Amino acid sequence: MPVSTSKIPSPSQIPPFYCCYLLQSDKKTKSFYIGSTPDPYRRLRQHNGDLKSGGAKKTHKDTSRPWNMICLVSGFPSKVSALQFERAWQHPVNSKHIARDHTNLLSLKATGPRSKTARISSLDKHLAVLRALCVHTSHYRLKLNVTFIDQTAAEVWHKNKFKLPSIPLHHSLIDAFSVEPVQEEYRQAHGTTLDALKKLRANDNQHQHIYDITDERLAACANPICGICAEKINFPVQEALVCYNNCGSIWHNKCIANQLLGERSSNIIPTRGQCPSCTGILIWSDMARDLSRRIGEHIIESESDHSDF
Ligand SMILES: [Zn+2]
Ligand SMILES: [Zn+2]
Repeated sequence: MPVSTSKIPSPSQIPPFYCCYLLQSDKKTKSFYIGSTPDPYRRLRQHNGDLKSGGAKKTHKDTSRPWNMICLVSGFPSKVSALQFERAWQHPVNSKHIARDHTNLLSLKATGPRSKTARISSLDKHLAVLRALCVHTSHYRLKLNVTFIDQTAAEVWHKNKFKLPSIPLHHSLIDAFSVEPVQEEYRQAHGTTLDALKKLRANDNQHQHIYDITDERLAACANPICGICAEKINFPVQEALVCYNNCGSIWHNKCIANQLLGERSSNIIPTRGQCPSCTGILIWSDMARDLSRRIGEHIIESESDHSDF
């Protein structure tokens, strides 16, 4: 595999929104499904058959539909990290991402062929495994967001039946259901909270205003010229960065990255700096996330279709 000699890491190393989620069947409340996706809104519609294509086979039975997306976890530093988390959540028995104490507490030790394939069929257990994953050293330092879209799930989480430790303070716990009440009628027809999921996708935490500014600027400017090297930007969607302080400046991503790096050339990635035009503060990771989102929109994402039951 060729090693890149470029000083600027690919912006795709910082993923756009990607989450792991827990589904619960509305009809069979002991049926669960754990998956991951860049777009929970679209994904839930696939699971419930509102969209023709996609959705795991395990969720296709009419006897289980509709599925409710009751909880999701986001904020992973890479897709690989999210997929590892998903895998451990699905297969917690003897997982290296769960502390031994917690493995014992949750009886997640494989002691024979039967227990190895034992299904986890209670909400308490799925959420306890989630908590054990959040506090494990491999995830402790990340800044994860645990979002509850279902009030009962949030209550089960707070009850903490297995007395596991609290998640670290720098993780955030979000009660989406209290922000976006679920219409009962709608829930019965389509599963949970499509509106809440749609909003979640749109919000993508605090980055939406940056996306709006860049989208508007790129749409208004057919042949942009880089404000630093004065050359044409050939592929604006894939390589342009825009000053999100809204001064209208537009650059090659490499030009502004080098500018922000400045004298500190021993660093590989810039962290923050001033816009050369308006002197407003620019945070590199915010700009890289925006670029990553634009590139991501041109890639057909494949969700994983593993099942834990
Ligand atoms: Zn340039
Ligand atoms: Zn500016």
